[in-house]
Amino acid sequence: MKLETRIGYGWDSHEFRRGVPLKIGGLTFDYPKGLGGHSDGDVLLHAITDALLGAIAAPDIGSLFPPSDPQWKGADSSVFLQEALRRISEAGYTITNLDSTLILTEPKIGPHAQAIRARVSELLSIPADAIGIKAKTPEGMGTDNAAIAHVTVLLKKKENRAAKPRAKRSAQAKS
Ligand code: MG
Repeated sequence: MKLETRIGYGWDSHEFRRGVPLKIGGLTFDYPKGLGGHSDGDVLLHAITDALLGAIAAPDIGSLFPPSDPQWKGADSSVFLQEALRRISEAGYTITNLDSTLILTEPKIGPHAQAIRARVSELLSIPADAIGIKAKTPEGMGTDNAAIAHVTVLLKKKENRAAKPRAKRSAQAKS
């Protein structure tokens, strides 16, 4: 069904581990611990990928890129994101805007929020002012050794540039 707009929601969490580079939103942070996981552990890109896939009712990130598959070991998570973007484009949609909340104790995201927004803008090819990057600390949640990301995304139907040529073809077929 070709809906005019579609909403997507994604959530992810990863545990901090020593000796792993910290990647959030496609950026690498200078921090003694990183996020463990089969890929590069980029919790924000994983949640964005799942939000995009969910918006078009596609299989989720874990189904498309199973952690059991050795080819995704240490993978750059932008690869997962690019596949989600390819799928939403193929389904006939573009991104209107995206909002996110990161939940982690450290490092503080505030000073890096603009840089993350700029990188995500580049990866998604949408303006930076269409991307919300918010951060909270996990008060009372007992998740101090984890980073959590929540993402919502709004898609809109692409303007159908192919409509005119198709109309012409059917007109020719009739004559
Ligand atoms: Mg993940």
